Amino acid sequence: MTNKCLSLVIHGGAGAMAGRDYDAEIAHLRGLIEAGRDRLRAGAAAIDVVVATITALEASGLYVAGRGAAANSAGKYELDASLMYGPTRAAGAVAALQGFASPIQAARAVMDATPHVMLAGDGAAAFAAARGLERVGPEWFTSARTAETLSPSTGTVGCLALDETGALAAGTSTGGTNGKLYGRVGDSPIVGAGVWADDRVAVSCTGVGEYFLRTATAVQIAHRLRFAGQGLVDAAGAALDDVVQLGGWGGLIALSATGEIAMPFHSQGMKRAALRPDGTITSDVF
Ligand code: ASP
Repeated sequence: MTNKCLSLVIHGGAGAMAGRDYDAEIAHLRGLIEAGRDRLRAGAAAIDVVVATITALEASGLYVAGRGAAANSAGKYELDASLMYGPTRAAGAVAALQGFASPIQAARAVMDATPHVMLAGDGAAAFAAARGLERVGPEWFTSARTAETLSPSTGTVGCLALDETGALAAGTSTGGTNGKLYGRVGDSPIVGAGVWADDRVAVSCTGVGEYFLRTATAVQIAHRLRFAGQGLVDAAGAALDDVVQLGGWGGLIALSATGEIAMPFHSQGMKRAALRPDGTITSDVF
């Protein structure tokens, strides 16, 4: 069976500041959507498109993820990422990973090559090294662009895809929040908080991770669909409201198995782009 509802959604973080110029990010996100669309149309799997898109986001230095990550309070670059595949709910994640260019590729390796869902810290780095993933030193990270657009400082990246088999996949990658403590892990690598994918919905979150952890935002949306019969837009909005009620802020992207998209945010702006099933592409910040 071929699914015609190909969809792709990306976010580049909910920390966008009103009045700043995000033309570079808007163009970059649109380009990634076009590249992902072409791959999905050629039959690529959602999980492969998610990993390729997030790898490009990490390498760009335009977001607080991968190369654009900022150092923590100890001056170290600790990165988090997660990946989830809807049909089987297989998942992989790394937390507080140091010394590698692409945390999302490490997350994929955890998913594909271990019986585990998450590896953290030195163990994650040893695993990434054993898998031959690209190493980088502290000098590789550049917060030049992101530092200028920070405070409030979030710039996680996320990607959701729906492929021609009807499979959903979701991924999230981050450098965390500005000034975070050494060892701090937020929502981004936590399945059910900053990422989720099942047979109905895929979700990736951005914002102050502590609030997304405390509200289990990503799986809350899935449960609202599954157990409360809510529609995607209502479920996504209600889950974000829960974050805001606790005093948090941020945003999220959600994609249903029918290609419906929700991209709510409670912040000044959220870098985001989407390919809808009818082929239209949007890329916006505010
Ligand atoms: N949610 C991420 C974290 O708390 C930050 C972000 O979205 O930019 O680590």
